[in-house]
Amino acid sequence: MADHAHVHDHDSGEGLVPVEEARDRILSAVSPLGSLQVPLTEAYGCVLAQDVVADHDMPDFASSAMDGFAVRSSDISGASPEQPVELKIVGRAMIGRRPESTVGGHEASRIATGAPIPAGADTIVPVENAEVLGEVVRIIEPAPEGRHIRPVGEDVRTGAVLVEQGRRLGAPELGLLANAGFPHPVVHPRPRVIVLSTGDELIPPTEQPEFGQVRDSNAYTIFGAVREAGAIPVLAGIVKDDVDQLKETLLVHEIQADAFISTGGVSVGERDVVKAAFFRRGDLDFYKVAMQPGMPQGFGRIEGKPYWGLPGNPVSVFVSFEVFVRPALMKMLGRSQVRRPEVTAVLTQDVSGPVGKLQFARVVVARGADGWSATPTGGRGSNLISTVSRANGLAMIPVGTETAPAGSQVRVMLFRSSED
Ligand code: AMP
Ligand code: MG
Repeated sequence: MADHAHVHDHDSGEGLVPVEEARDRILSAVSPLGSLQVPLTEAYGCVLAQDVVADHDMPDFASSAMDGFAVRSSDISGASPEQPVELKIVGRAMIGRRPESTVGGHEASRIATGAPIPAGADTIVPVENAEVLGEVVRIIEPAPEGRHIRPVGEDVRTGAVLVEQGRRLGAPELGLLANAGFPHPVVHPRPRVIVLSTGDELIPPTEQPEFGQVRDSNAYTIFGAVREAGAIPVLAGIVKDDVDQLKETLLVHEIQADAFISTGGVSVGERDVVKAAFFRRGDLDFYKVAMQPGMPQGFGRIEGKPYWGLPGNPVSVFVSFEVFVRPALMKMLGRSQVRRPEVTAVLTQDVSGPVGKLQFARVVVARGADGWSATPTGGRGSNLISTVSRANGLAMIPVGTETAPAGSQVRVMLFRSSED
């Protein structure tokens, strides 16, 4: 409610902090978490904190790319159907073993795909180009040196950077590091984010509300958003509008926290608990941002760790997370690209909003023959959580625009991947 009561006072935008300024302030107040050596399975999705340099050639032995015969190219340079060359079969080169025989002049060794090349051989004749006659193999065409041989160092040379610092470890990187013998890379760990919901009216989603009670949705919105950003949400539950309970809950969780997020209690109502707890002590700044939804915000440090006091309305929570929390979590994760991707889209309907604020309108972005279109998913109210669920983007109607008309272009921040 308090969120709403002030919208009108601030329609002009006077006295409000611009969105970019608020975001920059927060971004400059956080830094990547200290680096840590972790097993590959935990490193997945994390950002590498130092270059990984190959300490050997990859592959480190030459092997066959075909099932066939390892031979000397000079022996078969004159081979033809009319004048086949016959070579004596002297052994079998197998996968995972040192070849037991070498290949001398007019000799051949059977070889399997992936098996090391026996000394003396310099080319592979595939099995389909060879005819076995007891102890000998008959070959009817020449093969140049190196054919079907995977040479040493073909993939990576000793001293080359295998994976660069700053790279996020995805599936290919995990495989590469495993293969190269780096099972414990040094990464920026995932921040553990303590999430709590404030409000006397709140009950867990498992309970049946009495009149006026509200099921806590924000904790779950934030849970998903933190997870999706690559960090670890820790749900600390519902806190009544009670300063002591809030402080106690934070104290209990502080030991495992890299950051805190609370929702609700940052407006000017007398029960606004986050403000009451931290305003005077100066740990947190409380300010109003020139945005809709999400105007009242709190940010600062508790026990040296970043704390976001987000407003309580469910849509404000989602938007504030996207605008102020997610980029900062990305920075803590060591990511260099901290912003969501954006596209320019054409509005299919008029969108109006407060002229003095940057409005984040929930839209469905779709790709048509003439580029991207953006269709609003519902009303402006910051309590209308279903409008977020139907959307895949936030259209940004700039300060100074009262109505962005249908047909006009807007920038849209995309918060889902195109597969979703
Ligand atoms: P507040 O900022 O605490 O005044 O909350 C603003 C509005 O958001 C009120 O209508 C609250 O009931 C609602 N609200 C606050 N926290 C939550 C929550 N965790 N889940 C759902 N609604 C909430
Ligand atoms: Mg409240």
